[in-house]
Amino acid sequence: MNKFNYYQPTEIRFGQGRIREVGEVVARWGRRCLLVSVPVFPEFEGLYQTVNQSLEDSGVSVAHFDGVIPNPTTEEVSAGARAAEKHRADVVLGLGGGSSMDTAKAIAVEATHQGTCWDYLFFRNNQPTEKTLPVVAVSTTSGTGSQVTQVAVVTNPEEKTKSALYHPRLFPKTALVDPELMRSVPEHVTASTGFDVFAHAFESFITPNSSPYTDLISLEAIRLVAAYLPRAVDEGSDLEARTHMAWADTLAGLSIANAGVTLPHGIGMAIGGSYPHVMHGEALAVVYPAILRYTYQTVPDRFARVGRLFDPALGDLPEAEAAAASCSLIEDFIKKIGMSLCFADLKVPEEELRDLAQASLVLPDYKSHPRVVDLDGVYELLKESCRK
Ligand code: NAD
Repeated sequence: MNKFNYYQPTEIRFGQGRIREVGEVVARWGRRCLLVSVPVFPEFEGLYQTVNQSLEDSGVSVAHFDGVIPNPTTEEVSAGARAAEKHRADVVLGLGGGSSMDTAKAIAVEATHQGTCWDYLFFRNNQPTEKTLPVVAVSTTSGTGSQVTQVAVVTNPEEKTKSALYHPRLFPKTALVDPELMRSVPEHVTASTGFDVFAHAFESFITPNSSPYTDLISLEAIRLVAAYLPRAVDEGSDLEARTHMAWADTLAGLSIANAGVTLPHGIGMAIGGSYPHVMHGEALAVVYPAILRYTYQTVPDRFARVGRLFDPALGDLPEAEAAAASCSLIEDFIKKIGMSLCFADLKVPEEELRDLAQASLVLPDYKSHPRVVDLDGVYELLKESCRK
């Protein structure tokens, strides 16, 4: 067995009803809290009341920054950082999907450092210091795993670039994962965010950076997604399916925090930067079939193991055949959850794919893919993704 590291400082409080503990958890970090979320919508009115009450009962004074948008930009982060400064916040509470939790993390940096969060991206010399505000994360989608990762994804609209802050100081202090909060996620958002869970688990399993520890975690996440995502998509109020998906999401987050992601995420980030109307899960699903076919022969053992989670009968086939079959099984799964997409569905023009190919090789994720691609190779994969 090779050497490996595994690091995870986030306390996880998992289970139905845990949201009521939010006040007690936040109060550990101070008495002044900035709550970060999307604007209030009817399904969340009750949730905000519960959160505000719990914070008040614990003696925490709250300012609410409700300016988060999907695929959050540097502009929302700056507005949120000003709100944190004005309230003299000791702690930031991110409540929502990945967009809200990531905005909370980026605010925690920008409110306490010179410049903007964009000056603290993972490759810069400047990195978040001990001044970074503590973050508590409450996830309301089963998707990004952000409640347990050291990543905050932000888009710079001027540069049309989506990139990330990545630092151990960004791990939330506590992740509150309450599956009851996810029952209101609409069908397509459930499918799209749920596919992101699969992508995290799958990519952190096939990458050379995986370890025996992350393998355990990512394979269990894939097993749960295969079994429960179709149920959560079909019937959003199915609490058993929501609970298993919330756990799969958390596991996949733990896995990417230690093993990282690969080529599909590099392309997905480029799509999100140039076409912010495209959901993160859609940006992944559109390129997955082509990337699966491009990759399976490089790591047939890994593909075969994933395929057997979708269909145990593959256990009877030789590894190479099981690996090939796993591509079809994953594609069938994508269809089953309604995520079979081509670029035309996402309103991404074919004539812009050259630029997209170039942008796909900016982040280092593609270098961790088992079969490393060059510019022409990515372009071919993108062209292949123009048809279903
Ligand atoms: P999201 O946070 O953008 O939410 C999607 C939509 O669902 C929004 O309109 C939101 O208001 C709505 N929503 C959220 N919870 C709901 C609920 N319970 N009921 C009804 N509606 C609800 O989506 P996401 O996929 O969770 O996050 C995507 C962002 O996270 C992207 O920017 C992506 O790049 C980033 N991301 C971050 C990490 C990380 O480790 N930090 C990992 C992967 C992706």
